Amino acid sequence: MKRLAILGSTGSIGTQALDVVAAHPEMFEVEVLSAHSNSALLVQQAQRFNPNAIVVTDNSKYQEVKDALSHLPIKVFSGAEALNDVVQWDTVDTVLAAIVGFAGLSSTLAAINAGKRVALANKETLVVAGELVMQLAQEKKVEIIPVDSEHSAIFQCLVGENPNNIEKVILTASGGPFLGRKPNYLVNVKASHALQHPNWTMGAKITIDSATLMNKGLEMIEAKWLFGLQNDQIEVIVHPQSIVHSLVQFTDSSVKAQMGLPDMKLPIQYAIAYPHRIHNDFKRFSFRDFAKLTFEQPDYKTFRNLALAKEAMYRGGNSPCVLNAANEVVVHSFLQNKVSFIEMSDIIEKAIEHVAFVEHPTLEDYKHSDAEARIYATELVKQSQLSY
Ligand code: NAD
Ligand code: MG
Repeated sequence: MKRLAILGSTGSIGTQALDVVAAHPEMFEVEVLSAHSNSALLVQQAQRFNPNAIVVTDNSKYQEVKDALSHLPIKVFSGAEALNDVVQWDTVDTVLAAIVGFAGLSSTLAAINAGKRVALANKETLVVAGELVMQLAQEKKVEIIPVDSEHSAIFQCLVGENPNNIEKVILTASGGPFLGRKPNYLVNVKASHALQHPNWTMGAKITIDSATLMNKGLEMIEAKWLFGLQNDQIEVIVHPQSIVHSLVQFTDSSVKAQMGLPDMKLPIQYAIAYPHRIHNDFKRFSFRDFAKLTFEQPDYKTFRNLALAKEAMYRGGNSPCVLNAANEVVVHSFLQNKVSFIEMSDIIEKAIEHVAFVEHPTLEDYKHSDAEARIYATELVKQSQLSY
């Protein structure tokens, strides 16, 4: 029996994780659930899964949630700080970090600090502070099991392998809804269009990141820290069918890939059940449905966010943190039609130039860089014609 704390339970990953839990009541028990502001769904989930505690990080929703659950023995907490406490409880075995963005960093660090196994969906945690996070995990002998499908694929390819035998990893990218498009097309695209991902249904932020290819850039940085790689050991290939989830090439030239239909429930299940593989009734992949699997080079010139993320990875220090913060601001603004698709890259690039470079940042430095990048990017968003 694994006792789970699911942080971000009302999101795309969180709800799919609860589907997995519901299908295997003999394996999983829900100890903690958390959400930011979707109080109605959080209450519904609490009633169904009967956790020991829930956290609603948006304080203004506390009373409503508390009242709705007053007849049940479920502890209700509010505020971001509460997350850092509940993940440390003895009754929690595994923490599924499924909050989106920088907001997920602190609770992930708290979980690692308390020696909990972490199933990590929140890639921004590693983008911002990968070095610190992995150092702490090593110190505390904590295993971080990736939920991101590409990283789950690499992780699965590495089972039974000596990590020293990795020559390179190849991350696959679907290419998103604008694959093959050029800048003259992208100038006019709107959020509603970018939100239509061809293969995956996900939260709004990662869906926009997939359209700009920032998602793949963030995943390069995520892979670097997760698997202890050098920058030049990480490649990206566009694979529009999203069947090959990623590959590892070894020093003897052998290449391993992990494949399957695109369904996040599989990497979620793998991460929370690890080291066990559990039977399920997910739809099976068949070559009959996929006569052709195709691969092509990414277009770094058109999808500048991918190039910016790669540059930030090579530059190191606080650059990925600044990139991430500026990206969170512009994605939020793009979703509100306050900034254009193309301007997102301009603003991220300027933010990286603007915020002072710190080569070996502490956690405080990261918080500072994040805040500074957000303020600056927000200023630049206000200067966009679309903001008026
Ligand atoms: P989502 O927007 O659907 O859900 C986010 C969850 O986090 C919600 O439960 C929300 O209440 C909570 N949350 C949001 N802001 C918060 C804050 N400030 N404080 C506390 N909680 C907050 O996002 P998602 O698509 O489920 O993605 C979650 C994470 O998983 C992201 O880091 C994303 O990159 C990663 N991921 C998602 C997918 C996917 O298929 N959705 C795939 C790979 C990786
Ligand atoms: Mg991914």
